[in-house]
Amino acid sequence: MTLRLHNTLTGTKDVFEPLEPGHVGMYTCGPTVWNFAHVGNLRAFLFYDLLRRQLSANGYRITHVMNLTDIDDRILDQAMHAGTTISEYVKPFVTAFFEDMRALRAQPAEHYPKATEHIPEMLAMISTLLERGNAYVADGDVYYRIASFPRYGALSHLDRAGLKAGARVSTDKYEKEDVSDFALWKKAQLGDEELGAAWDAPFGRGRPGWHIECSAMSKHYLGDTFDIHCGGVDLMFPHHENEIAQSEAANGKPFVRVWLHSEHLAEPSGEKMSKSAGGFITLRDLIAAGHDPLAVRFFLIANAHYRSRIRLSTEALHAAAEQVRRLREFADRVRRSQPAANEDDALVSHIVEIRAAYSEALDDDLNLPQGIGLVFELVREANAALDNNRVGTEGRRGLLNLIDEVDAHLDVMGGEEPGLADEVERLIAEREAARQAKDFARADLIREGLKQRGIALEDSRDGVRWRRVSHG
Ligand code: AMP
Ligand code: ZN
Repeated sequence: MTLRLHNTLTGTKDVFEPLEPGHVGMYTCGPTVWNFAHVGNLRAFLFYDLLRRQLSANGYRITHVMNLTDIDDRILDQAMHAGTTISEYVKPFVTAFFEDMRALRAQPAEHYPKATEHIPEMLAMISTLLERGNAYVADGDVYYRIASFPRYGALSHLDRAGLKAGARVSTDKYEKEDVSDFALWKKAQLGDEELGAAWDAPFGRGRPGWHIECSAMSKHYLGDTFDIHCGGVDLMFPHHENEIAQSEAANGKPFVRVWLHSEHLAEPSGEKMSKSAGGFITLRDLIAAGHDPLAVRFFLIANAHYRSRIRLSTEALHAAAEQVRRLREFADRVRRSQPAANEDDALVSHIVEIRAAYSEALDDDLNLPQGIGLVFELVREANAALDNNRVGTEGRRGLLNLIDEVDAHLDVMGGEEPGLADEVERLIAEREAARQAKDFARADLIREGLKQRGIALEDSRDGVRWRRVSHG
């Protein structure tokens, strides 16, 4: 098995090798918690999850860091309108983010640092950049001097002249030496104190710019040089270029070895989904419209390769739900089946081939859609063999292994474990008995335990009913 990943820096698919044998350090740009995450954001987060799972499949131990941007202009704006502090304002959105991640079965990262909890690290890096001449103070703000970093633009393969034209001119201030210089530190404005958005700094009270947080937090958790950095394509420029400029100038070492960027999700209209544009769709919206979060998961990771654009549509979600249903049904059927006396040798060797081809597809820059295509071919063939009683011990074992290997990425087939309904019914009966005996503490304990497992109980006229909920 050799994992190859498309590195934006080289522009080619390169064999992946971590700095430290057996261990991968990876930083992924996380949500700005000014609102719920939209489905486009979730696509990026599930791409991180897919990468994580394939690294695990290759036997790596992983230190995955995903930041939460809990300070930026939009957050300040919203908190001010809500008459609260930024830390109070973001709380429900932080909770919602973790709920969404759980509902979508994203494996948790090792660290979820918040920008506001790493201000000292940012101050230290900004001070270094000032000392080295990579930054300057202008009217209480601190800017990065892009002219001091000749390699600027290497990631997005843009030349310096092009970068200036593409810079965010709207946020530029006339005090800057150059229009493409970007803010590392912003002088405190009227009202920032009440919002809890100002910190002391050697260069004056204020708050950090957005780009410095990722440089400072990745250094804190992963060191000066680490293996993988991911984000959506929109972050390549200027955010990731700025991170490289900050980190390499401050640390004097190469920053990231492999950069991966996932493509956008478009709205049903074909427009790129964005929070700022208004009409964005959240996971909550989709669940309210009756979609299964796991169908959403399947649609986001398995329908298209992470480097191609996809468009959200009801039809696509229904098609994904149908594929999930077929896979689950197949997995259940194989798990319940008894090995037949006759073995179909052609099937057995085909299973071996498909298992190898599946893992090869995933090693080829995470080509899950291709892998899933192969699996569906085999599902048809295996279903026919099961109909004809031609799946013996070896075939059955091969199919079970394949199901596990595929579900290590998809994570949709373990949903309704066989026997779950019986166990829940037993616990409900136990809770009823406890209530009859006026042992309410025990009754509550059972209810709480089920809730932890994502099962909610409802007292109805016909007795107690249960249903799956997306979060506890
Ligand atoms: P944000 O919360 O805006 O900081 O973005 C979080 C992540 O979502 C980043 O990796 C973005 O690149 C990604 N992202 C933003 N919009 C989209 C979109 N429409 N499709 C896919 N990814 C997106
Ligand atoms: Zn970032």
